[in-house]
Amino acid sequence: MCGEEMSNRVVVVGGGVVGACAAYYLARAGFAVTIVDRGNFGAACSHANCGYVCPSHVLPLATPGAVWSTLKTLFQRNSPLKVRPGVVLRNLGWFLSFARRCNKRDMLTAGHAIQALLNSSRTLYDELILAEHIECEWEAKGLLFVFQTPRHFDHYAHADELLRREFAMPARRLESAELATLEPALKPGMAGGYLYESDAHLRPDRLMLELRRVLVGLGVEVRENCEVTGFVRENGKAKAVHTKRGDISADRFVLSTGAWAPLLNRELGCRIPIQPGKGYSVTMPRPTVCPTYPLIFEEHRVAVTPFASGYRIGSTMEFAGYDDTMNRSRLALLTDGAKLYLKDPIANPVQEEWFGWRPMTFDGLPVIDFSPAMGNVLIAAGHNMLGLSMATATGKLVAEMHGAGTPHIDPTPYSLKRFG
Ligand SMILES: Cc1cc2nc3c(=O)[nH]c(=O)nc-3n(C[C@H](O)[C@H](O)[C@H](O)COP(=O)(O)OP(=O)(O)OC[C@H]3O[C@@H](n4cnc5c(N)ncnc54)[C@H](O)[C@@H]3O)c2cc1C
Repeated sequence: MCGEEMSNRVVVVGGGVVGACAAYYLARAGFAVTIVDRGNFGAACSHANCGYVCPSHVLPLATPGAVWSTLKTLFQRNSPLKVRPGVVLRNLGWFLSFARRCNKRDMLTAGHAIQALLNSSRTLYDELILAEHIECEWEAKGLLFVFQTPRHFDHYAHADELLRREFAMPARRLESAELATLEPALKPGMAGGYLYESDAHLRPDRLMLELRRVLVGLGVEVRENCEVTGFVRENGKAKAVHTKRGDISADRFVLSTGAWAPLLNRELGCRIPIQPGKGYSVTMPRPTVCPTYPLIFEEHRVAVTPFASGYRIGSTMEFAGYDDTMNRSRLALLTDGAKLYLKDPIANPVQEEWFGWRPMTFDGLPVIDFSPAMGNVLIAAGHNMLGLSMATATGKLVAEMHGAGTPHIDPTPYSLKRFG
């Protein structure tokens, strides 16, 4: 509980999974919390992502070789990773910083900081779901990487070895026959797979609905369709947020606006280097031969998530700025990819076609740090491809940094100071 003398009203700007988890741990610590969202709570990138809570995903996008594979996409029409040349030119600093980090040393440094959030979050999800009776189709059966070709399967052995050696993250290697037995929904003849048994998955939209129920039960106010446009400042602190529907005052603030975070850079007194990384998903009923495991088809960068109540194909990464058009050829990449691996890849009717903007930093790490301009505004944004997987630990850390206890994770790697 926060002490009686502690000023205890908090405004959380942004009701995605990161803001919702921050609100949860703040409310549990005794703060009076209001969430303010420009749209609807849980309706942005946290709505229809693939639902993996995956401690196995410790490596950032910036890995040795990633520059070359990114450059190639400038000349390929239908690559899972796509970069628009105009976006590169307008954001050259971001892409150059990304390129500079595509080396083993930076990859490992980022990986360890990612892992701290992932491991803590995985444990906290178990606790949160149990404590609050959250029904979000949570299943902790692991995540299965599937390889179509022996060449890619063999090549992945290097990544497996690196993950074991550097991150103590083992996988169960499955030869072709063993894989076919474990996952009968796969077409015959897959080369092999790797099963990450500590990973879990859930249905993201159900999680957000359930988090809202829990938050409202804890007295958290949720204000929707209420865009924050700035702050009312006094003596190096924020007193209130300006919204299009009036000011909302508080003693402390959290900025968890995902891919939109840089739009308030001037107010925050810093440059948050986030690019929207657009990804797509298609949600359907469960096909007749539905996979039992969540699957990643590495060669085609397609992910498949079986839920108790449905089935989702997702992924692809496009750096296209804040482009909000639904690109049908990106959606087709998902279904075409799934057809190569699954006996029964599509079910009808399609229930939702969706895209979301992942908040991408060039080093793969989120920003969890106070604004240099306002000492009581804590930024928690830039969770890249792993916002769901890192949300609970981020939320707990946010509450701790706002005074609810000693940080359970060292926040230094997520500081704004790393950008100089
Ligand atoms: C296809 C796809 C698949 C993915 N799969 C996974 C996965 O399996 N596992 C995983 O861990 N991650 C996954 N991700 C990434 C994950 O979805 C994101 O990292 C995560 O949702 C980011 O959460 P957030 O709360 O930071 O942002 P968001 O969910 O985008 O929330 C930000 C909120 O801030 C609000 N906002 C913005 N500006 C303002 C403002 N000025 N005033 C008020 N409100 C504002 C927005 O309306 C929004 O509701 C996936 C992403 C995609 C696109």
